[in-house]
Amino acid sequence: MSTSSAAPAAPAGPGHSPSDFRAAAHQAADLLADYLTELPARPVWQPMPDAARERLLALPLPEQGRPLAELLDDISEEVLPYPMGNGHPRFFGWVNAAPSPAGVLATLAASAMNPSTAGGDHADVHLERTVVRWIAELVGYPAAPGGGLLTSGASMATIVALGAARARAAQRLGVDVREQGLAALPPLTGYVTGETHSCVRKAAQLLGLGSANLRTVATDADGHLDLDALRAAVAEDRAAGRAPFRVVGSAGTVNSGAVDDLEALAGFCAEEQLWFHVDGAYGAFGRLDPASAHRFAGLELADSLALDPHKWLGVPVDCGCLLVRDPAQLRATYSLVPSYLRDDAAGDLGWFSEYGIEQTRPFRSLKVWATLAALGRAGVAASIARCCELARLLGELVEAEPDLELLAPVETSIAAFRFAPAGVAQERLDAVNQALPVAVQQRGQAFVTGTVLHGREAARACLLNPATTEADLKLLVQEVLAAGRELLAR
Ligand SMILES: *Cc1c(COP(=O)(O)O)cnc(C)c1O
Repeated sequence: MSTSSAAPAAPAGPGHSPSDFRAAAHQAADLLADYLTELPARPVWQPMPDAARERLLALPLPEQGRPLAELLDDISEEVLPYPMGNGHPRFFGWVNAAPSPAGVLATLAASAMNPSTAGGDHADVHLERTVVRWIAELVGYPAAPGGGLLTSGASMATIVALGAARARAAQRLGVDVREQGLAALPPLTGYVTGETHSCVRKAAQLLGLGSANLRTVATDADGHLDLDALRAAVAEDRAAGRAPFRVVGSAGTVNSGAVDDLEALAGFCAEEQLWFHVDGAYGAFGRLDPASAHRFAGLELADSLALDPHKWLGVPVDCGCLLVRDPAQLRATYSLVPSYLRDDAAGDLGWFSEYGIEQTRPFRSLKVWATLAALGRAGVAASIARCCELARLLGELVEAEPDLELLAPVETSIAAFRFAPAGVAQERLDAVNQALPVAVQQRGQAFVTGTVLHGREAARACLLNPATTEADLKLLVQEVLAAGRELLAR
């Protein structure tokens, strides 16, 4: 029988000592600084060469380990050359920002500590409470202690908020939804518009509420929820024995950046005792632009507000945030503390894991802290205002081109438009505009994405990068015209 007392083998082979880590970390710093510096001179995006894509897809699970330094070579050769394109000053697709350099550094530090920010008494937990308060202060939402948490994104924030709204509505109807489920309830009915983000529908489906109980309320010509239509729908549903329980307002729609009349919606929801949720994932930070701030009046009255620091703030993905007026409602919905997780040191607020769905939670707050600390409130506000100004300018450039049509007023930092030369049939225009975003992307000079707005195929450009210049916008317009004319000629 072996009685060997030799230490267990190190988990990895050569190239993993503390000094190897230090050397590799220095090498990584240079690699990433080069990457970020050289990005603006590259094509915005290019399709991956087939061979490079195949190499990544076919990577075998390695049997033996390799030195840290070699891994960086692989990242440099096989990964960094093929980015999504966000980060480039002419990337205007979806709502994907350039990463804040401070946030990039903080990501490394946070992963070196690697806590679970579920709760307890460590720096990450306290910092999360502070950055949640900072985010609330930035957008002018009341910051109740415990009244919010960071999430993977606004989709998760929406699920968490909707779960609380569902629990409150059920409670008012005498049902404990956690215990009894939905069977004993009349149809809990929610209200959105055709411009509401799809994550709201997904959340309703997931929570067992059913898409059929999500009413799509009409909008005005510019995509704002029509309050009279909402009023009529709620009255009709009550008369039919349904249980209206919440309304979703948009603080910046994803198609055109439209902001609903939040103050009027909040007033209506208070009268009708409905939960008022505001989706500010993309747009809520637009309140920091002095020229746009007035549009957001009433945001502070929402029962819940979903935002995405990983969008306009440039916090590296992932980082969403949920803010709520009544933290007790969140805790009543989600707190479930088994004996192995009891922690007497947690204090009155308890654990973050009692306010949402995740148990083991990442240290997201450090990259939020770093991003905001690096710029300050004034720097963030200047960057937001710059993006809005650029979007308004793009709107003007579009309107000045006879072959382009602006499809909605620029209310925040999104311009929605289409290629529409005179004398071309609508059907043909729709076909051309549907193909347009990819045609622009493939030219490599600028990146826009498409959507359908007012039933018409459209392109949309979302301005999130204050490093974008007026020349970049002019180039975008030229690229759109060139791609449109090419498509039309086919
Ligand atoms: C991005 C977005 C969402 C979804 O947020 P994720 O962070 O992608 O989960 C919801 N609403 C709007 C308006 C958005 O722009």
